[in-house]
Amino acid sequence: MSTYSRILLAIDLTDESSQLISKADELAHLYGAELNIIHVVEPLTFAYGGDVPMDLSTIQEQLDDHAKRKMDTLCAAISQPVNQQYIVTGHTESEIHRIANETQTDLIIVGSHGRHGLALLLGSTANGVLHGAQCDVLAVRVRQKEA
Ligand code: AMP
Repeated sequence: MSTYSRILLAIDLTDESSQLISKADELAHLYGAELNIIHVVEPLTFAYGGDVPMDLSTIQEQLDDHAKRKMDTLCAAISQPVNQQYIVTGHTESEIHRIANETQTDLIIVGSHGRHGLALLLGSTANGVLHGAQCDVLAVRVRQKEA
């Protein structure tokens, strides 16, 4: 049976992320693997480019702070060490691949769906991570919370 020694969990910080954290934590214990958790903040300039006639840096800082706080809260549930939490800025799929390579990850875990994927069989980010990954990728089915 193949085994994993370094797992990278990618979360979008939505409420469903706690399901992924529990599952990744269980798998990490099962395999005796190190667990790293990543969230990627996409720069506002990716969405708006130079089209907005204002300085976006303050809003970007607020988004980064919010992401850090949310990551802390979610990771507290499994006492995830801070040095195994990654909040990085850039293109989501590329950053997940970059950190996976840097941490010598042998299993990336993503949710089947997140913010962008409700209408799709597999969310667009999950699909993007699968393509181009240099290790196994596990898509964990995410149950949407009742409204
Ligand atoms: P989506 O493509 O939005 O349906 O998201 C599917 C899955 O991709 C999520 O459940 C997360 O595992 C991962 N994901 C989406 N956005 C991000 C992000 N900004 N940072 C890290 N992982 C993400």
